[in-house]
Amino acid sequence: MKEIFLLKLGEIVLKGQNRRAFEACLKGNIRKRVRRFGEFDVYLKQSTIYVEPKNDDCDLDEAWEACGTVFGIASMCRCHACEKTLDAIFDGVVEYLGDELSMRRSFKVESKRADKQFPLNSIQLSQEIGGRLAEAYPHVAVDVHNPDYTVHVEVRDYAAYVHGPAQPGAGGLPTGMGGRAAVLLSGGIDSPVAGYMIGKRGVELECVHFFSYPYTSERAKEKVLELARLMTKYCGRMTVDVVGFTKIQEAIREHCPEEYFTLIMRRFMMRIAQRIAADHGCRALVTGENLGQVASQTMEAMAVTGAVVDMPIFHPLIGMDKEEIVTIARKIGTLETSILPYEDCCTVFTPRHPKTKPTLKQVEEAEAALDVEALVEEALANTEKIAVKYYED
Ligand code: ATP
Ligand code: MG
Repeated sequence: MKEIFLLKLGEIVLKGQNRRAFEACLKGNIRKRVRRFGEFDVYLKQSTIYVEPKNDDCDLDEAWEACGTVFGIASMCRCHACEKTLDAIFDGVVEYLGDELSMRRSFKVESKRADKQFPLNSIQLSQEIGGRLAEAYPHVAVDVHNPDYTVHVEVRDYAAYVHGPAQPGAGGLPTGMGGRAAVLLSGGIDSPVAGYMIGKRGVELECVHFFSYPYTSERAKEKVLELARLMTKYCGRMTVDVVGFTKIQEAIREHCPEEYFTLIMRRFMMRIAQRIAADHGCRALVTGENLGQVASQTMEAMAVTGAVVDMPIFHPLIGMDKEEIVTIARKIGTLETSILPYEDCCTVFTPRHPKTKPTLKQVEEAEAALDVEALVEEALANTEKIAVKYYED
């Protein structure tokens, strides 16, 4: 039996002139993801990408899972490929889907005929295969309106393909087509989800993490690196810049009014992140901010924080409820790591009464006691760059 994956393109089909570039990028990304699971041919025909194992050594289960993490694919079908004859198609359905079908109450056959040379049209093909299946599985009723199971048959250029219901793909646009952005990655639930969402728009990611040893522990840093690693499953390999932030936090605590601690700290994060982002060729920053979630995420506070940065700052979670964010974190596999109980530098020196409606002028005055440039330079010099990828080779 010959198994093959058919991956259906998502939004790419809406692209005009540069559609070819998107398709080429997507094919390249798929090749990279499946390479470690064996030798595959990856080719595109009629808005569908074929992932075809070249020999029996391929690990199809792993390759299938990997294809499910590639942005740019709307839906995916794992198929049995067979000759374009009725007998071969029928035998293919029985062999590949028979067990599944026989457990169901009702079924229908849905056919597509992309190869117009094929002698039957799609309705005739469905009727023919459906009729034979009804005889072979008399306990499973035919129900064309509301079937328990749908058998799909696609007759295409090279072969006929038989499969069960399609599975959703990762959606979005191919990684690499949307430029590059830097994610401010904390150890919480929100920022990995924010990064994933921007990554899904075809953007390559880098991460910046602020680390306040000894106020935050080595384990907290390991947790953030693990979150970055989990993100790479979807977003591709990245670098995490771990910035030593202790000195800045201590300077703020010593010289600034307490109610502005968090805001001033966040302005430093933005300044430093922007510098690191520019070094990596990034054109935007990404944060997990969410309107009203904490004192530093009011409109006034976010205006004050964003004022130190020229590049766009994306906060893809801005209008979401926590429950919605948690659902995505669970789906992409970051939730369990995010909820490990290690401290973040944001929780060190938290003011008892943070300003929720600051003005820029107030914060600039509160900050005036610090040599901002020197502190930023020193933190940049005290940054560790760590390459992160999904698999340890
Ligand atoms: P998260 O769940 O991602 O930690 P949060 O809701 O706890 O977010 P804050 O702690 O106020 O919110 O941080 C808001 C955003 O600032 C985070 O989503 C992240 O993008 C960034 N951030 C916070 N702490 C750090 C850090 N130590 N290093 C890098 N970025 C950070
Ligand atoms: Mg946090």
